[in-house]
Amino acid sequence: MQLHDQTPHTDLPVVVIGAGPVGLAAAARLVEENVPFLVLEAGDRAGASIARWAHVRLFSPWRYLVDDAARSLLSEAGWRSPEDDGIPTGGALLQSYLEPLAAHPSISPFVRTGSRVKTVTRAGLDKLSDGDRAERPFAVHTEHADGQDEVILARAVIDASGTYENPSPLGTSGVPAPGETENAGRLYYGIPDVRGVDRARFAGARVGVVGSGHSAFNALLDLASLNGAERPHVSWFIRSETGPALFGGEDDDELSERGALGKRMRLLAESGDLVVHTKFRTAVVHAEGDGPTAGTVILESDDGVRSAPLDIVIVVTGFRPDLSITRELRVALDPAVEAPVALAPLIDPNLHSCGTVPPHGFRELSHPDEGYYTVGMKSYGRAPTFLLLTGYEQVRSVVKAIAGDLEAAERVELVLPETGVCSTDAIIGGTSSCCSASAPIEEAEATPTASDDPCCTPTDSADPCCAPTSEPVPLSIGPAKR
Ligand SMILES: Cc1cc2nc3c(=O)[nH]c(=O)nc-3n(C[C@H](O)[C@H](O)[C@H](O)COP(=O)(O)OP(=O)(O)OC[C@H]3O[C@@H](n4cnc5c(N)ncnc54)[C@H](O)[C@@H]3O)c2cc1C
Repeated sequence: MQLHDQTPHTDLPVVVIGAGPVGLAAAARLVEENVPFLVLEAGDRAGASIARWAHVRLFSPWRYLVDDAARSLLSEAGWRSPEDDGIPTGGALLQSYLEPLAAHPSISPFVRTGSRVKTVTRAGLDKLSDGDRAERPFAVHTEHADGQDEVILARAVIDASGTYENPSPLGTSGVPAPGETENAGRLYYGIPDVRGVDRARFAGARVGVVGSGHSAFNALLDLASLNGAERPHVSWFIRSETGPALFGGEDDDELSERGALGKRMRLLAESGDLVVHTKFRTAVVHAEGDGPTAGTVILESDDGVRSAPLDIVIVVTGFRPDLSITRELRVALDPAVEAPVALAPLIDPNLHSCGTVPPHGFRELSHPDEGYYTVGMKSYGRAPTFLLLTGYEQVRSVVKAIAGDLEAAERVELVLPETGVCSTDAIIGGTSSCCSASAPIEEAEATPTASDDPCCTPTDSADPCCAPTSEPVPLSIGPAKR
């Protein structure tokens, strides 16, 4: 793909969609490059999505959570970095990092909260029109919290709007199962604060949890921590078999908190305190209306197995990008993963069971409408293996490209910790993943470890997917050419 050395309309700002960690890291990079920008955030605060899981402990330590440009800006302003090895909750990430960053004098005047981007177009052109498309600025159609609409012209758009607002449904076909929408009041999408604000809803209740990724583990472990009369009766629904691969790399995971989460979950699953429904693919959600089960729901699988009545079901079957924003842009997304086409093969969970991701930057994140970039969690589409470090490298490269420094944009400056194994909310059909390019993605099924994977022969050692899980596998060290 041919790319301009410099985007036109340099008098216009770069619009960043979303003030999450990756959007704000983009802002810090734009400050560094002295490029005018505007961050549009739908929520009423920076980090609005993270605020919804503020009670959840992350699995990365602080040293993997702070962007380098943001660190420099904050340090100049007297910010004291948290201990490198400490592992924050989402709330601490907000309080100790994102809020100070959003409040930094070189960023804060250019962050607009309560501003939801509805669509991005080429100014005055729909998707079909060729015209002088590449020369037109972007028009960012925005709805503000007071109901006012505004069209903001932009020289380039960095879309860091994440996926947390778009949870995948219960229905195994990727669309809501019959009965799912009607019974939405009995379903909770995301990770509830079981020990905090949502306690009354879950204490002593008959609870279903659907999903097998880290979000499900967090919810299940929180439910298991309630005792006595508050102890809920928990049923866990997964599409795979249980087995070691389901719980991730455990002691082999270089992110030790993530390994420990998988280990705690395995012990809980083995304890007999949960009713575990394996190979359960939700086909129908039934409402129960009479007697002691009034107001409960029953899940039915595609092979006709029915659950016991449930007071509430926690749905953690993955997240997906909101593609409506780019309805009138020319974007190139992988048809399965919904990530930019050049990035998708690098992250496709059908291909990469270990979650190791080759370095990538502005080229992989570009689209046919040059100057629009998908970054952060959204850039991974439906793949669940995104790490913030990856996002920070993405925006470093993208901003360098926008600023016209292609040499720096091409450089790779990323080293990621080895994941041990992916334990995912979006999942692989069939058995392996290293070798099977064509296996369909399903949700809630786990991948095997590379070392267990029969696909990984000794000759595969160059493939990060097949590398031994006990050793760290850096993606690249120091500057390298993509
Ligand atoms: C429970 C949980 C734990 C995680 N733990 C880790 C971890 O330990 N380590 C790690 O590296 N990663 C972790 N991740 C993955 C990932 O790093 C986070 O999801 C991270 O928040 C992604 O950052 P982001 O900036 O891409 O998106 P988000 O943080 O989701 O930010 C997107 C922002 O865009 C805003 N927005 C959405 N739509 C619009 C719109 N149309 N217009 C304007 N604004 C909009 C949202 O309100 C939000 O503020 C975790 C994820 C979850 C869910």
